[in-house]
Amino acid sequence: MHLDPFELHRPSSIDETTRLAGDLAGRFDYLAGGTDLLPNYKMHLNLRPHLIALDGVRELTGHDLGRIGAMERLADLERDAELLAEYPGFADALAEVATPLVRSSGTLGGNLLVETRCFFFNQSYFWRASLGFCLKADGDRCHVVPQKEKCYATFSGDLAPALMALGADVEVAGAGGRRRFPLAQLYDAAGDGIRRTRLAPGELVVAVHLPPEARGLRGRYKKLRVRPSYDFPELGVAVAGRWDDGGRVERLALAIGGAESYPKRFDDLTAPLEGSSLTDERVRALAEEVAKRVRPVHNTFLLPDYRKRMVDVYVRRAIHEARRGPAA
Ligand SMILES: Cc1cc2nc3c(=O)[nH]c(=O)nc-3n(C[C@H](O)[C@H](O)[C@H](O)COP(=O)(O)OP(=O)(O)OC[C@H]3O[C@@H](n4cnc5c(N)ncnc54)[C@H](O)[C@@H]3O)c2cc1C
Ligand code: SF4
Repeated sequence: MHLDPFELHRPSSIDETTRLAGDLAGRFDYLAGGTDLLPNYKMHLNLRPHLIALDGVRELTGHDLGRIGAMERLADLERDAELLAEYPGFADALAEVATPLVRSSGTLGGNLLVETRCFFFNQSYFWRASLGFCLKADGDRCHVVPQKEKCYATFSGDLAPALMALGADVEVAGAGGRRRFPLAQLYDAAGDGIRRTRLAPGELVVAVHLPPEARGLRGRYKKLRVRPSYDFPELGVAVAGRWDDGGRVERLALAIGGAESYPKRFDDLTAPLEGSSLTDERVRALAEEVAKRVRPVHNTFLLPDYRKRMVDVYVRRAIHEARRGPAA
């Protein structure tokens, strides 16, 4: 596998970046740490002739407890003990992304926009050619659900569910200026494994903002994967909540990734539990209902039926462990 030539652009401000994006419309990708994009380029997956590197744009870096720049390296976030203590579910998720080596280059923005995955897509050009390619790259059919004209590739980022459970907002910039909205709305529930976000053409992620009420929430992220040292999620369950001294729920949010083409929150199921005490019976009912709504397909290593059953198990575990809080 080799990397084909491309032209590299290195803007130093957001305005310069969005101007370049306009000039190169449809012919470029943004390049952050490159840990996802460049391996995909080596497999000749949806190559573009131009890359706009974001590492020279200072406004995209830096973090504190309320804001994390899109170009922050995951390893730098992992070294911030205060951040990890304040957001334990996010800390779990960070520690589970890929390997330490990948996290030393990989960034937050790249993680939120990591390419969706499928075992008919993440293959060499020749492997894919032997099957006649697929909708997501170079072809006109789906090998997973051949009756449908949409792609079911799986969203496989670990950080989005954890940040969504915390109620994070995302800030984006484009030709139309800046926008800020709930992170959950970055992902397009009406899209598919190809059209997976609601970003306008050329828009880039600037930062993630964490609301003050997210601080100190108890949280947990449970990840199902084949090789714990390395693999993408086959399922990721994030929980963030607060309980009063009597054990009643003050706030509870739950988000799931790694199972479908976009990560999602289940507010209509968790909001009614606020104000009540979270008995084992209620947790079981919640977990079963969430599992009913998650529909993995057979495009990752583990079978969809198993992944679906693990939704129930991981939701229960994540809530119990979050409620218990950190070991003294
Ligand atoms: C061996 C291996 C294992 C991995 N395992 C995991 C895993 O377990 N969990 C997981 O979540 N990820 C995993 N990854 C994927 C990847 O390494 C991480 O998601 C990483 O955080 C991606 O960040 P990056 O900066 O390298 O993104 P890049 O590769 O630079 O970019 C990824 C995508 O995001 C776009 N992009 C990047 N930044 C921006 C921005 N600011 N605005 C708009 N678009 C942007 C790029 O154009 C590209 O499409 C793995 C990768 C490898 C190689
Ligand atoms: S789900 Fe179908 S269209 Fe999407 S990557 Fe897999 S085979 Fe291709």
